[in-house]
Amino acid sequence: MNEIIKNRLELGLFPSPLHKLNNLSKQYPDNNIYIKRDDLTDMATGGNKVRKLEYLLYDAVENGCSSILTSGAQQSNHCRQTAAACSRLGLACHLLMSGNEPDKYTGNLLLSKLLGAQIHFTGKGKKESDLDSFKKDLEERHPKNKHYLIPLGGSSLLGAVGFINAVNELKKQINSMNIKIDYIFFGSSSGSTQAGLMLGKELYHLDVELVPINIDKTDFKGVSLEKKILKLVQEGAKTFGLDQKYELNDIPLVRDYSHAGYGIILENERMAFKTLAKREGILLDPIYSARAFGGMLDYLDKQKIEKGKNILFWHTGGFPEILTHGNELLK
Ligand SMILES: *Cc1c(COP(=O)(O)O)cnc(C)c1O
Repeated sequence: MNEIIKNRLELGLFPSPLHKLNNLSKQYPDNNIYIKRDDLTDMATGGNKVRKLEYLLYDAVENGCSSILTSGAQQSNHCRQTAAACSRLGLACHLLMSGNEPDKYTGNLLLSKLLGAQIHFTGKGKKESDLDSFKKDLEERHPKNKHYLIPLGGSSLLGAVGFINAVNELKKQINSMNIKIDYIFFGSSSGSTQAGLMLGKELYHLDVELVPINIDKTDFKGVSLEKKILKLVQEGAKTFGLDQKYELNDIPLVRDYSHAGYGIILENERMAFKTLAKREGILLDPIYSARAFGGMLDYLDKQKIEKGKNILFWHTGGFPEILTHGNELLK
C-alpha cells in the first residue's frame, strides 16, 4: 500500500468501537443496524476530524511547522479537534472564525478557547476568503514560525486519507465480527469524509454502498459539494493508482434532508436525536449526525432498504454542539 497511508501521527483512540444497535434493530426487524463510534475518538469529545488531522498534522510537523492555521464556524467541531491536537503536539493553533466575538463562550467555541487556541474573529468578513491573507499576516507578525494551513473541515486529499485508512479499520472489524455491511449512512459536508470512504472502499475492496446525507446546501464559491468530492477522488485515484475513472454521476449525495439549510433544527433532526438517545443512550449532534441519522430512519420507514440488509451508521461526533441547542432539542 502507498507510503502516504503510513505517514500518520497517532492522535485519536482507534479503532473506534463498532457495535450493533440492538433496540433499534428490533424496531426495524427487517434489518440489522450497526454504529461506528467516531464520537469516541478522543481529542476533547471526539469526532471524525481526528482521522484527517492525523495525516495533516504529520505533514505539518514533517515540514517543520510550529503553528497551525484553520477556519470554521464558531461552533466548528473541526476547529475544536484541531485545537486539541495542537495542544497534544505542542503546536500553536490559530482559528479564524466567522462573526464577532460573542459575550458568552459556549459549546465548541468554549472548548477551543479552553484548549488554548488563539481565536480570530472575522466580523463581517468571510472566513474562507480571509484564510490566505490571514496566513500572510501571521507570517509577517511571527516570521520565525512556519505556519501550516489546514483547509475548511480538513478537506484536502491528505485529510481524505484519514478516511481511506478508516475503511481498512472498518474492514478488519467487520471481518472479525463475521458480518457484512451493505450500506453506510453518514453526514457529508466539506467532502473529505466521503472522498476518503469512496477511495477506501476501492483500495480495500469493500463491497458496500455509501449513502452520504448532505448537511449544508450552500456550495463552495460556486462549486457544488459533488464537484468538490469529484476533484478529491480523481486526485486520489491518480495518487493511489486506481483504474477507476470517476465522473460527476459516480458521486452519491442525498440532498433530501438539507433544504432547511445549515444548522436549522427541524423535526427530522429532533426526532433522530431523541430516537437514538432514548433507545440506545447515545447522543448525536443536532447539526450533522442527527440530520444524517434522521435520513437513515426515513429510508427505513419508507422501506427503501431491502429486507435482510445490514446498515452501518457512521457517527461523526459533534457532542459540544448539543449544549448550545439544548432547548431546541427538548421541543
Ligand atoms: C465535519 C463533520 C461532518 C462532515 O464531515 P466532512 O468531512 O466535512 O464532510 C459530519 N459530522 C460532524 C459532527 C462533523 O463535525
